[in-house]
Amino acid sequence: MSSKAPKRIFLTEDEMPKQWYNVRADMKNKPAAMLNPGTLKPITAEELEHVFCSELVKQELDDTTQYFDIPEEVQNFYKIFRPSPLIRAYELEKALDTPAKIYYKFEGNNTSGSHKLNSAGAQVYYAKKQGLTSLTTETGAGQWGTALAMACEHYGMDLTVYMVKCSFEQKAYRKAIIETFGANIIASPSNTTNVGRQILAKFPNTTGSLGCAISEAVEKAVSTDNCRYVLGSVLNQVLLHQTIIGEESKIQLEKVGDYPDVVIGCAGGGSNLGGIISPFMRDRLTGEKNPRFIAVEPISCPSLSRGKFAYDFCDTGHVTPLAKMYTLGAEFMPSPSHAGGLRYHGMSPILSQLYHDGYIDEARAVLQTKVFEAANFFAKTETILPAPESSHAISVAIDEALRCKEEGKSETILFNLTGTGYFDMTAYMSYRDNTMSDIIPTDDDLQAGFASLPII
Ligand SMILES: *Cc1c(COP(=O)(O)O)cnc(C)c1O
Repeated sequence: MSSKAPKRIFLTEDEMPKQWYNVRADMKNKPAAMLNPGTLKPITAEELEHVFCSELVKQELDDTTQYFDIPEEVQNFYKIFRPSPLIRAYELEKALDTPAKIYYKFEGNNTSGSHKLNSAGAQVYYAKKQGLTSLTTETGAGQWGTALAMACEHYGMDLTVYMVKCSFEQKAYRKAIIETFGANIIASPSNTTNVGRQILAKFPNTTGSLGCAISEAVEKAVSTDNCRYVLGSVLNQVLLHQTIIGEESKIQLEKVGDYPDVVIGCAGGGSNLGGIISPFMRDRLTGEKNPRFIAVEPISCPSLSRGKFAYDFCDTGHVTPLAKMYTLGAEFMPSPSHAGGLRYHGMSPILSQLYHDGYIDEARAVLQTKVFEAANFFAKTETILPAPESSHAISVAIDEALRCKEEGKSETILFNLTGTGYFDMTAYMSYRDNTMSDIIPTDDDLQAGFASLPII
């Protein structure tokens, strides 16, 4: 069967999943409740509604509903760029001479160049339905800002994007593309918010961080009428929307009679990893199957592998609710690695709990140069130019395939190819001319971040 299986496995529109899966419903230990940063009491729906729109607050706080219907309008939006293909990496397998079967889910086939459009389309839809007129957000590498600008243009909504300064400077085309879709974009930290001005006063040379851009976007949203903040990762609602990736993958694998032994994804805030593993995690949580799960993170920002499982702020400015998660501390400033989408101090509370309970088997932190070696190898064999973030998953998929070769095992490996790297050519160039560095935070660096953890 497998040798005759097609290279690209598609779904028809009718076969597309019509529901998102809420993995929390099947978790014995639920992720800990978010806390109000002022009172340290579990945050209420009413409090959250100052920041997020109502329907998304419901999704955020719901630990029991197994499936959420995808609204028809969102299904129609998805049909613009989905279903995404599941691709059998025959060329890569051949180049590695591995008995393993490697599949990747390709989420980069839309203008945002990433999976982020899956949640952007859902979040803007609910905001529009509630009658809001504008949104704010942050973006790291630019994929989320682009995705949200696309969705806002589609549904007719104003948008202001705070983009992490180092990415803003490295990626001029990102700004241009976000503006093409009609959004307003500002480098963060900026002097357009109180929190931005405070951070600039304290760290005048900072290259910014996701945590800092989030603070600015939240401040702007709560101080503007009919405006809400939207976030592209970490939150339970985002992970829920991203389960479209795993639900599709599962059906596609069924079509070729396969099931993964191991599922691999890169982990920044955890949304794509959570999205691809959720339906397979359900099988593991219910005891039906026993796939392994590997989270891959940059060695420069090792939230899962070296972080602490504790309550922390989701942003540098301490305006967001506290979440219990694996974290390096909200004031941890990761080195300016090229995988901007993975430079976040914390990790999805759902994934954090699953990792803590042993359901995510392993978190591997990988060197940037090793990631780009994998990126180049993958581009040359499979012909897709991967995003630096996605290449973290590629690197470990290759290692797993080589392990299978050593052990003579023909395991099935599934990884998420979250996006394309067309806006990351500076990084590809620095890899080629050997100027790329591998910055590993010292224990002292990490201690400084942990020192900023709130005491609860
Ligand atoms: C944002 C992004 C990521 C990381 O975000 P998660 O929420 O951890 O999934 C990975 N890959 C690409 C291409 C991205 O844009």
